[in-house]
Amino acid sequence: MAKIEEYIPLVGQSVVDDLRLLGERLKGKVIQHINSTPVGGGVAEILNRMIPLLRELGVDTKWDVIKGGEQFFSVTKKFHNALHGRFEEITQRDFEIFMETSQQNIESVDTGADIVFIHDPQPLALVKKRAANKWLWRCHVDISNPNKEVWAFLMDFIVQYDSAVFSAPAFSRELPIRQFLIPPSIDPLSDKNKELPQETVDAVLRKYNIERDKPIITQISRFDRLKDPIGAIEVFLRVKKYTDCQLILAGGTAEDDPEGFKVIEEVKERAKGEPDIHILLLAQNDIEVNALQEASDVILQKSLREGFGLTVAEALWKAKPVVASNVGGIPLQIKHKYSGLLCHSIEGAAFEIKQLLNSPEYAKKLGEHGREHIKNNFLLTRHLRDYMLLFLSLYHGEDIVYL
Ligand code: UDP
Repeated sequence: MAKIEEYIPLVGQSVVDDLRLLGERLKGKVIQHINSTPVGGGVAEILNRMIPLLRELGVDTKWDVIKGGEQFFSVTKKFHNALHGRFEEITQRDFEIFMETSQQNIESVDTGADIVFIHDPQPLALVKKRAANKWLWRCHVDISNPNKEVWAFLMDFIVQYDSAVFSAPAFSRELPIRQFLIPPSIDPLSDKNKELPQETVDAVLRKYNIERDKPIITQISRFDRLKDPIGAIEVFLRVKKYTDCQLILAGGTAEDDPEGFKVIEEVKERAKGEPDIHILLLAQNDIEVNALQEASDVILQKSLREGFGLTVAEALWKAKPVVASNVGGIPLQIKHKYSGLLCHSIEGAAFEIKQLLNSPEYAKKLGEHGREHIKNNFLLTRHLRDYMLLFLSLYHGEDIVYL
């Protein structure tokens, strides 16, 4: 795991000096992150990288994961989909299941830290246990158009927090508590984003029997309907009519997502008889994700909804041309026709991929701009700074925190 000074060549000495200073200011405070899965998905991805660095900066940081059975996670997945505006049949029993498991976690998770930092809706109700300490709710999902019933239910808990944090301006809501806008980030020095030797990239392709004889289009995502893997196949089939190419759909499932295996079956069914579609089930292997992104000619992210879309940032950081849906936090990362291409439909995405495959110079330019944009806005050091300022702000009322 990279040490903080290893970031200096990338982001500059002053950025790291500021982080150290903020770490000093937070001495004596204990920060506790709580989410619902240790692996899989963007939240775990970020916490796994951020927590060791916070500790190195002198911030006493813990990470706890709530427990829940299949029923609980089926309910929270429904909530997740409903918050993203998808239709879900939600019953009174679902709310009861949510509360029963929340109650068990309230009893078993010690929330005595100075700042309790709750991620996403699954552990939201833990705030019922709040004492005199500070509580933050970090929402990673797109709640620009939430199901009203689910939102009203969650609001009873949200209002008990000191502040809420959202990833993009479009997700902020009318709330009686303070709101912060902090987009996520990627770690440029992690196994997922560091530069790999060509032999490693080749070895991963060999492992999955992928030849480099035709352009590679890749979507990396958990197998989740909101990531639209079937849509990605439809896009690919339209492109392939004009340009011979291959599609990699690679991903795993998350522990808090019981729907994943069903979705994989649907995807396999749709891809039947198409030898140029590679469906790869990855077992949490960052080097493999990195290598697949690196080996690709175009990265696709055909999501129907997206909180932020770390996979887009990861691809742009590798200077890849990206075609991605204009949803959630993706337009923060892609300025259309400058740092990638935004799409609104299967046909649109297919058109854009054809364009990129036919104009390698244009594709290269978009990728270069994309890398620069990520470097300036979405690296872990910026995220650490924002979080530390946020923690300090909890003790400074409405004042601005000066370094
Ligand atoms: N990811 C991974 N292996 C997989 C699928 C996804 O490591 O099989 C990673 C991906 O590289 C990214 C994160 O999980 O870092 C997903 O974050 P994103 O914001 O794209 O979506 P989320 O899953 O949080 O909705």
